[in-house]
Amino acid sequence: MNNRFISVLSGLFFATLSFNISQAHAQSDNFSVQQLAQVEQIKLQALESDLAWRLVESLTTEVGPRMPGTPGDKAAVAWAVAKFKAMGFDKVWTEPATFPKWLRYSESAAIVSPAPQALHITALGNSISTPKAGIQAQVIEFQSLAELENAPDNAAKGKIVFINYRMNRNRDGNGYGPAVQARRDGAVVAAQKGAVGYVMRSVSTANHRFAHTGGSHYKAGVTKIVTTAIANADADQLHRLIALDKPVIINIKVQAKSMGEGTSYNVIAEFTGSEYPEQHVLIGGHLDSWDLGTGALDDGAGVAITMAAAKLAVSKGKPKRSIRVVLFAAEEFGLWGAKAYVKANKASLANIVAAAESDFGAGKIWAFDANVHVSVLPLVSDIAAMMKSLDVEYLAKNSARGGPDLIPFRPFNIPVFRLSQDGSDYFDYHHTADDTLDKIDPEKLRQNVAVYAVFAYMAANAKTRLIGK
Ligand SMILES: [Zn+2]
Repeated sequence: MNNRFISVLSGLFFATLSFNISQAHAQSDNFSVQQLAQVEQIKLQALESDLAWRLVESLTTEVGPRMPGTPGDKAAVAWAVAKFKAMGFDKVWTEPATFPKWLRYSESAAIVSPAPQALHITALGNSISTPKAGIQAQVIEFQSLAELENAPDNAAKGKIVFINYRMNRNRDGNGYGPAVQARRDGAVVAAQKGAVGYVMRSVSTANHRFAHTGGSHYKAGVTKIVTTAIANADADQLHRLIALDKPVIINIKVQAKSMGEGTSYNVIAEFTGSEYPEQHVLIGGHLDSWDLGTGALDDGAGVAITMAAAKLAVSKGKPKRSIRVVLFAAEEFGLWGAKAYVKANKASLANIVAAAESDFGAGKIWAFDANVHVSVLPLVSDIAAMMKSLDVEYLAKNSARGGPDLIPFRPFNIPVFRLSQDGSDYFDYHHTADDTLDKIDPEKLRQNVAVYAVFAYMAANAKTRLIGK
């Protein structure tokens, strides 16, 4: 269904509301006819609301980049607290999260010979600095991390390793997992093979000339070498030059610094439930971003979608169960906010009736699935039925994984949901200077809010509660 069709449908709902409810939903055990009518009204409101847009516009404009431990991160925490309060949430609070702080100062690179020219490069998070004059060495190319791993010891001695693996484009982002290993572990493996520097083709589906940053790590006992990524176009160029069989020498300059332990804050807000206040729906995104862009898609959109959805979900009155929005800290440096949240809230995790994180940009939601106890699957079907008119397909596999910040929750078997966005172009912009507000389509953003609002309302107001496996 295209967006125009959604708009047309919105109009039709007004005319056919009572018909829809009496025909399609009267037999639900979990919701009254009046509640289902409210879901339809909330859906329509969400499809016409610009609340999420105003939030993400404000966050990316008035705050901008939000790398953990920077003044922008601090400003984002203050921004979120102020917005939640202004939006009328019943409770707003922060919880600290610590993380290893890292700052980028400058980065550049060039092919020195045989064809001198600039390379568009970025340091990966956690990278060490090079000497001021840079690291200059011959490049040795590998097609994948696995190929590097299988190379003999000292295969890269004194050289700069270049991994030329290109990720594939897919609606569900399944190219990311295989590609991201080279970002996380590449510098460690390269150093083990004797390399003095590491550069990879960006984890990217883009044709533009921005390099993609992202988290990386070192390993105790292995020499730390500079770890970087170049834009796809530059990786193509480097590959072509190397294929000419003359030594290709590049220079990489990075100034960055690890600064010890930093502290940021999860920002949490709740509309308190009237019947079971301790039970809660948990939705959210992560408040931090990388420093290169303004973090509009990653994850300003998720922040805005879930804040707006919670507000819309309570527009018909207090929910039975609480609706909690958690804006996680320091996700990009390694899920530090989520880990701190789980640790600080261990005693109440069993009260989570449904959890979902929005952290895959702002593309239209096309699928819905759960990971819950089989006894509550009829309730999941009821929720999915109300998303159908928003063009959301129910996958019914019952094996959904939540967003990245829900990974630390996994040992606790909470009921997890996935509201799958179309991420076909997500990795064109992800972690680049090009992740900016203009990449968000306001109409698709509204569809996201509508789906999340339906989800939050229904999980919070169902007769029975959702439970995990
Ligand atoms: Zn993210």
